[in-house]
Amino acid sequence: MNIALIQPATGTARVLDGKVAVITGSTSGIGLGIAHSFASAGASVVINGFGKPEEINDTVEGLQRETGSKAVYSAADMTKPDEIAAMVTLALETFGRLDILVNNAGIQHVSPIDQFPVEKWDAVLAINLSSAFHTIRLALPAMRRQGGGRIINIASAHALVASPFKAAYVAAKHGIVGLTKVVALETAEQNITCNAICPGYVSTPLVEAQIDDQARSHGIPREQVIRDVLLAQQPNKRFATVEEIGAFATFLASDAAASITGAALPIDGGWTAH
Ligand code: NAD
Repeated sequence: MNIALIQPATGTARVLDGKVAVITGSTSGIGLGIAHSFASAGASVVINGFGKPEEINDTVEGLQRETGSKAVYSAADMTKPDEIAAMVTLALETFGRLDILVNNAGIQHVSPIDQFPVEKWDAVLAINLSSAFHTIRLALPAMRRQGGGRIINIASAHALVASPFKAAYVAAKHGIVGLTKVVALETAEQNITCNAICPGYVSTPLVEAQIDDQARSHGIPREQVIRDVLLAQQPNKRFATVEEIGAFATFLASDAAASITGAALPIDGGWTAH
C-alpha cells in the first residue's frame, strides 16, 4: 500500500480520538490499511497477524510515527482461542478499553470440493469464521461496560455470491454475514453495532503477485489478466484500494454510523448487482 497517501489528520478533533481498536490480520493488506485509517483518525490500535519480526516492528513504529497514535502488536494465532483471549486482554491492559473490533484475518484455499483437503477446510473455517465468534464473545463484555462499541467483520463479495472451487471460503464468508446479523440483534439496544464489509477484488500485495503469476502462466499481458481473469465478475474493472476500505471502516466505526447495524455492505464495483 502507498502509506504516503494516508495523511495524518492533525489539528481539529479526529473522528476516532480516544477510541481503542483491535484489527485482526493487520500486518498486511486490508487489515493494515484499516489500521492506518483508524490511527490517522485518532484511535489507538492493536495490530495482529503473521510476518517477520523486524518487518512487524517497522510497521508498528511507522504507523505510530505517521499518525501520532499508539500501536501495539499481538502475535495471536486466530486458530487458537486462548491466544485470541490473550489479544483481547492485551488491548484492555494496554489501553484500558476496547471500542472497535475488526475481524479481518483470512486465508483462501482453491480446490474442487471432492478433493478439498480436510485440514484446509478446518483452517479456513477457523480463521475466517470461528475466530470472529471468539473475538466477539470476548470483546462484548468490555463494550457493554463502556456503554457502546463497533464490530466490523471483513467478509467478501463471496459472502453474497459464490464461485466454484472456493467451498470453504464461500461457506465461511456467508457464515460471517449470519454471525453479523445475530450479533447486531443481540446488541441493538446497547449502542453497539455489528456490520460486514463485503469487498470485491482489492489491490493488495497478494493480488499483485497473482497478476504477475497469471500473466506468466497464461502468456497474456498484465492488463488482460486484470480485465478478463481477475476482474471478470467486477463490472467497474478496477481494484478497490485498501485506503477505500479503511475510509469506509472508519465511517462505520464513527458516531455518525450509529444506526447502521446488521448490514452486509458491498464495496465491489457492482459485482453483486449482477
Ligand atoms: P492478506 O493475506 O494481505 O492479509 C491477511 C492477514 O491475516 C495477514 O496479516 C496475515 O498475517 C493474517 N493471518 C492469516 N492467518 C492468520 C492467523 N491464523 N492468525 C492471525 N492472523 C492471520 O489478505 P487481504 O487480502 O488483506 O485479506 C484480508 C481480509 O479481506 C480477508 O478476510 C479476506 O478474505 C478479505 N478479502 C480480501 C479481498 C482482496 O481482494 N484482497 C477481497 C475480499 C475480501
